[in-house]
Amino acid sequence: MLPTSVLERARDELLSFDGLGMSIMEISHRSRPFRDVLDKAEAGLRELLRVPDTHRILFLQGGASLQFSMVPMNFLPEGAVADHIVTGAWGTKAVTEARKCGHVNVIWSDEANRFRTVPDPAELRFTPNAAYVHYTSNETIEGVQFGNDLPAFGSPVVCDASSDILSKRIEVEDHALIYAGAQKNIGPSGVCVVIIRQDMLDRIPQEQASSLDYRAIAQAGSMLNTPNTWGIYIISLVCDWLRGVGGVDAIEETNKEKARLLYSAIDSSDGMYTGHAARSSRSRMNVTFHLPDKQLDAQFAAEAEGAGLSGLKGHRSLGGIRASIYNAMPVEGVEALVDFMAEFGRRNA
Ligand SMILES: *Cc1c(COP(=O)(O)O)cnc(C)c1O
Repeated sequence: MLPTSVLERARDELLSFDGLGMSIMEISHRSRPFRDVLDKAEAGLRELLRVPDTHRILFLQGGASLQFSMVPMNFLPEGAVADHIVTGAWGTKAVTEARKCGHVNVIWSDEANRFRTVPDPAELRFTPNAAYVHYTSNETIEGVQFGNDLPAFGSPVVCDASSDILSKRIEVEDHALIYAGAQKNIGPSGVCVVIIRQDMLDRIPQEQASSLDYRAIAQAGSMLNTPNTWGIYIISLVCDWLRGVGGVDAIEETNKEKARLLYSAIDSSDGMYTGHAARSSRSRMNVTFHLPDKQLDAQFAAEAEGAGLSGLKGHRSLGGIRASIYNAMPVEGVEALVDFMAEFGRRNA
């Protein structure tokens, strides 16, 4: 979802942005008005995420998926090792791509348990002098999420935060690189936000292809080639909206409440609904659960759709039901789902 107020503002400005008589999609990306939009999107993210001056914010294309390759292409030289903590399907893809570039050490994985937990910090054994350690703060498909107390990572920390960025406070200063495809919590698809610590730029090989080189992109102010102007514009509006509702701390409280409502509906359902993630690792963004059998899963998703609750069918790899409750989902949307769950449970008990 995007906040309705963002869509309305984009609609109102669609034919004439800022009184220019042209759409944001029609003006040059080198023009002053677009530069102001990009600066505004960057300033909005910097303020909301409390990004310190040590870190640059970049707008890239190719999605979070390109980062699976770009991170090792820039930071995993021959002879080095990247540590990966694998808590779900996206982290698995990150490993697959990194292995095409260099040596990866999966230091922790919950695959054998179908990805229900995040590690206890005491279980982690880092490779000494690893080039970096990669983790996925929220696994979107399985619905498992790291809490706010992260393990003490020894090496530069790289985080795929695609599905929980802006949903809760993160300690940006503890990270060397954070990346996030925009389409879950920041804006529309087609833009990937990268927050990178400046000193990492010095580690990039000189012969790196420019379009895959964070240093070149940073030097060009995210305009090495034509950026996704529309996407960056929508990000600037989402930042305005989020500031207006009280920023990340306020939305974190709302997100906690939304997740609490859903998980208590699951836990008090007398076995009609069973959560996928272990309680300690439950995601506040993607609530995954299943019914007693696959037929009921399908019936639940279909009847929910009929009741105006769409997109509940779980990812094809996991089955079951997944309620994605990103920032723009209001509490009322979650309450409607909780009511539907109770009513469906009574009819099918
Ligand atoms: C959606 C998602 C991705 C993939 O994002 P694209 O922008 O489609 O490449 C990667 N990681 C996580 C955690 C995601 O939720």
